[in-house]
Amino acid sequence: MTVITMMACSGQVKEETEVPFVYTVDQFADLQILRYQVPGFESLSLKQKQLLYHLSEAALMGRDILSDQNCRYNLAVRRTLEAVYSNYTGDRKDEQFKALEVYLKRVWFSNGIHHHYGEEKFIPGFRPDFFAQALRATDILKLPLREGQSLEQFMEELFPVIFDPGVLSKRTVQTGEGDLILASANNYYAGGITQKEVEAFYAKQKDPNDRTPISYGLNSRLVKDKDGSIREIVWKAGGLYTEAIEPVVAELQKAALFAENEAQKAVIEKLIEYYRTGDLKTFDDYAILWVKDTTSEVDFINGFTETYGDPLGMKASWEATVNFIDKDATRRTRIISDNAQWFEDHSPVDERFRKKEVKGVSAKVITVAMLGGDCYPATPIGINLPNADWIRRDHGSKSVTIGNITEAYDKASQGNGFNEEFVWSETERESIRQYGFITDNLHTDLHECLGHGSGIILPGTDPDALKSYSSTLEETRADLFGLYYLADPKLPELGIIPDSEAYKAEYYKYIMNGLLTQLVRIEPGKDVEEAHMRNRQLIARWVYEKGQADKVIELKKKEGKTFVVVNDYPRLRELFGILLAEVQRIKSEGDYEAGKLLVEQYGVKTDAAIHAEIRERYAALKLSPYRGFVNPLMKEVKNEQGETTDIVLDYTEGYTAQMLRYSKNYSFLPTYND
Ligand code: ZN
Repeated sequence: MTVITMMACSGQVKEETEVPFVYTVDQFADLQILRYQVPGFESLSLKQKQLLYHLSEAALMGRDILSDQNCRYNLAVRRTLEAVYSNYTGDRKDEQFKALEVYLKRVWFSNGIHHHYGEEKFIPGFRPDFFAQALRATDILKLPLREGQSLEQFMEELFPVIFDPGVLSKRTVQTGEGDLILASANNYYAGGITQKEVEAFYAKQKDPNDRTPISYGLNSRLVKDKDGSIREIVWKAGGLYTEAIEPVVAELQKAALFAENEAQKAVIEKLIEYYRTGDLKTFDDYAILWVKDTTSEVDFINGFTETYGDPLGMKASWEATVNFIDKDATRRTRIISDNAQWFEDHSPVDERFRKKEVKGVSAKVITVAMLGGDCYPATPIGINLPNADWIRRDHGSKSVTIGNITEAYDKASQGNGFNEEFVWSETERESIRQYGFITDNLHTDLHECLGHGSGIILPGTDPDALKSYSSTLEETRADLFGLYYLADPKLPELGIIPDSEAYKAEYYKYIMNGLLTQLVRIEPGKDVEEAHMRNRQLIARWVYEKGQADKVIELKKKEGKTFVVVNDYPRLRELFGILLAEVQRIKSEGDYEAGKLLVEQYGVKTDAAIHAEIRERYAALKLSPYRGFVNPLMKEVKNEQGETTDIVLDYTEGYTAQMLRYSKNYSFLPTYND
């Protein structure tokens, strides 16, 4: 489970390096592109660098998989746009061409035609007749036509995909009364299969008494054939996406040669075996080896991992990160994980739902060296895996906070005017300045390292019982666990928070974000859709409502502008605890109706007037509500004998250059993977 927190804040100023590093690379539409640094890379051993290099290559090789998973036309659209963009001989300053450039940048960013966060299809700012003319002027051999297709037929097929808002309008439809599978434009299901048919297909396979179930459906597309029969097409070497999976495997094989130890080598080899067989039992074996490898300095994620993109939460998108441990910063998370049992025992949830024995929560702060698939360009700042509940129960989980990414966000946000506009008074701003960065990181640590790993599901409860609400409720649970403990006297006692006042900075920011400022990301008139955003609004609105009689939180007006005022922080903490107990009960008992009610009542709807006001104030700041990253360019340095003598990082590549390079060097899938 990943958490993405991108609230703008101005945090502590850290010591500056000699040459100021430029964090901002590009800005367009609602997006800002940043660059992250990889401190500590130079002092790694050559062998570790070579391991990172091959894992990084493997992280980039699977890029096309995600695009095709997101929608079956994504590769066709991207390749068509790239062909036009790279070969255009007209005026590149022309408004129509500039609109095409923005659209292409957005398609790159989203790995497809739908917004990466809001999931709705975005429509280009250029005209169809301009695009038709540009296509006719492009060498037809450079365009991804289907076999035997004429250019006119190609345009007839592709134009509605690009220009018609009613076609493939939403990538993933998470809620609603209709059929979520049929309504979603993603490519996890095909052939007109219905939600009922999908649910029946997997219900038949599940054994409610199985204490160690595989992750059903995780690595396949489910298809209904013309004759009505239903089958899984597995993503594996020799199966669907083999053209990309084979190069991933080849790089993993090279990486295994540079493994730091036998345990790590076994992890890589088990992953290779899983890619070759597609066997989900092997995937579990791999996940267990991975979670147990806590001594290696270099680590990675590579594969079909998170299930947010599937309305039923089964099919996983392809993602990759490559990283190494930040030893200094890890001291903080080690203290948290060493005390995991204490936190579990003192949690405000019903005793029946607590873990009697917390197993192996390992937590660390990492430095990423490469992002790929569903972690690029938009990336999480914390990750907790594996996702299978029984593996977490029996073997524990690995939890990371990505230090160099949070650092880049923080640096890029300093002095951007956000807090001056939205924070109630200088008291709160000063608290955020002083404690914002550390408490934000600490909340992520607690969320990932303890929150997701806490609690149990009662025996006999279906782990998928919460269906389309499970992602939101799981994030709610983890966030509440973190919020509740952020104010606990245990933290200053452990020496991981400066004092007993610091938590207020995060409490304030959290409520301000959940009630007000995250609305800048939502189009007027639209509901909140994304799981993390729903969870944050759910929590903020619930505590606001429950504390209204005592004025725990107020929405106050100043010069016509709405602000959050928190009057009673200790009471706010109690409310977090009460909600945590209820959300844990919902998960432990699989209480679908209560979970649904909570999400629908608090997490989904927006207040139109406040929404409009917040968007207007935000627009005046000229900031981007979403941010993502370019990777460093990782290069092998070779001597005259052709031996690798070093691996170096280059931080000069721009966004467009990087995307075009990736499309040239790391694009392996056919355009159409039907
Ligand atoms: Zn999470």
